[in-house]
Amino acid sequence: MIFLIISSSMQFSIVFKFYAVFKSLWMISPSTLNSMISSRYKILQDLRLVEGVWSGEEEVVFRNLWKSKAPSKVLAFSWTLLLDRIPTKVNLMRRHLLAVDDSKRCVFCGLEDETVVHLFLQCRVTSRVWLEVMRWFQFNVITSPNLFFHINGWLGEMHLKKLKRGAWLIWLLAIWVIWKPRNDWIFNNRVKEVDEMVDEVKVLSWQ
Ligand SMILES: [Zn+2]
Repeated sequence: MIFLIISSSMQFSIVFKFYAVFKSLWMISPSTLNSMISSRYKILQDLRLVEGVWSGEEEVVFRNLWKSKAPSKVLAFSWTLLLDRIPTKVNLMRRHLLAVDDSKRCVFCGLEDETVVHLFLQCRVTSRVWLEVMRWFQFNVITSPNLFFHINGWLGEMHLKKLKRGAWLIWLLAIWVIWKPRNDWIFNNRVKEVDEMVDEVKVLSWQ
């Protein structure tokens, strides 16, 4: 019904906003992004009404993201990650920002191209981080085709609202803790072991 009553000029306006959102998300810094989150969330809600771009899983995730107590820089990073707008090697290549002879391989395992799904869910190194964090929480092992299913499966392990909030925080911290050493490895040639990453998730969760 909503779709039917929206005028064509409004659709154009929202599509234009859609383009602006994604273009700017790619270019701006996380701190700037954080200050702009509220208005962009509203824009994406509008976009969903017109184009139905969010699945049920995606809607639940975006709606609950802002309720987390995670630091703002972690929330801002999560937002760009969930929109697949972080500069993974494959994303850089798609935008012609990676030299032809630069490797697209994941820095952790060197076996697969560095997509969001590989880096955060399927890599044999980073999946060990999840495994250890799941053991710490006594969660069942979750395997997922994308981040949204992963989050919903993760939250599904907790039945009380208060515990879900804690689980959200740990999930957000885990992806942050995976992303930082990835950058450290590429830009500073510093390698962090899985155990160190798991310890960092635990320490951050108590702060
Ligand atoms: Zn890998």
